[in-house]
Amino acid sequence: RELTVDLGTRSYPIYIGEGLLANIAAYFEKHGISKASPLLVVTDDHVAKHHLKPVLSRLAEGGYTAVSYTVAAGEKSKSLAVLEDVVGACLQAGLDRKSTVVALGGGVVGDLAGFVAASYMRGIRFVQIPTTILAHDSSVGGKVAVNHPLAKNIIGAFHQPEMVLYDTSTLLTLPDRDVRAGLSEMIKHGLIWDAEFTAWCEANAEKLIGLNPEALQYGLYKGCAVKAAVVSKDERENDLRAILNLGHTIGHALEAVAGYNELQHGEAISIGMVGAAMLSVRMGNPEEIFTVTERIFKKFGLPTRIPAHFDTEAIMRAMMHDKKFSEGRMVYIIPTAIGKVEINKNVSAEWVREIVDRLKRED
Ligand code: NAD
Ligand code: ZN
Repeated sequence: RELTVDLGTRSYPIYIGEGLLANIAAYFEKHGISKASPLLVVTDDHVAKHHLKPVLSRLAEGGYTAVSYTVAAGEKSKSLAVLEDVVGACLQAGLDRKSTVVALGGGVVGDLAGFVAASYMRGIRFVQIPTTILAHDSSVGGKVAVNHPLAKNIIGAFHQPEMVLYDTSTLLTLPDRDVRAGLSEMIKHGLIWDAEFTAWCEANAEKLIGLNPEALQYGLYKGCAVKAAVVSKDERENDLRAILNLGHTIGHALEAVAGYNELQHGEAISIGMVGAAMLSVRMGNPEEIFTVTERIFKKFGLPTRIPAHFDTEAIMRAMMHDKKFSEGRMVYIIPTAIGKVEINKNVSAEWVREIVDRLKRED
């Protein structure tokens, strides 16, 4: 399957299919990736174990000079220190202005390698090769970043890839918890944009969790299509792109309070999306928005409640750091129906506190 992220002269394709990486050199050639300049493949140690060797040998067979750099797996590698290491690898491998950085991995590697590409020599090309389900979201749209100890994704850029090459066979080695967490963003893409796709996700939960190839390819295709459509309309998040943050205000706060280890991103936002649905009902929208949202996440075995030991005040404080907040009002993405959301700039902080409290009770 193939689709395009429509951004005028910076448009690029997303290829999704089983076994695409066998032809990686042909894809690179088709998109004008130079053979005269060396490539740097950035990956992490989990991904390297399973998927690096074939990528490097296919590139070499195709006439590319490709060097690899492997970072430690995990969010900690999205740091300025690791960025400096990767830039060192670029220099050692002799990357020049015509070179390309290849991100082989999940969202961590994609965000890090993408930011290296955005900043090395003031910007060189890069290719996204996502190897997680979550990365159907992170590899599309051009947001690249590393973290600061005080804030996530705070040092970054907009830098669009040359292409996204999604070989779904790489997903077979993904741990089950990462599979479910990644599906959380896929469900989000349904909830913000497409009621039919949301229903399809729910009906195909078992197939998706079990990595059924047809279901997976269709789900990733639809998820990427929603992301591409939103980004095409609003690349720099002036307005519409904010809808991609459904569930993320509460979600980011939970990740921060948990110190980025107890909850995965996809798990934090499933709780956040249930919270946004509760808020919606509290604001007078149909009860069904909440019941359907909760039912779907339960079906995927994703969390729908905040663990009881999380401190409500700490969550509220983290939210106030994260989002625009003034005179007791917050900006929130609120579902108004399944498959539809609004950007509401007038949500009462008191109601949010009430919802956070409710989310801590199992009912
Ligand atoms: P990740 O990259 O850490 O991958 C999750 C885990 O799976 C890691 O341990 C990784 O080593 C392992 N892994 C990856 N592919 C594998 C494979 N095929 N087989 C076995 N193991 C594999 O995390 P993620 O969930 O993919 O992404 C989360 C990151 O994405 C966060 O840093 C988040 O901020 C970022 N993100 C960015 C955007 C964006 O628009 N740029 C959007 C959403 C999320
Ligand atoms: Zn997200």
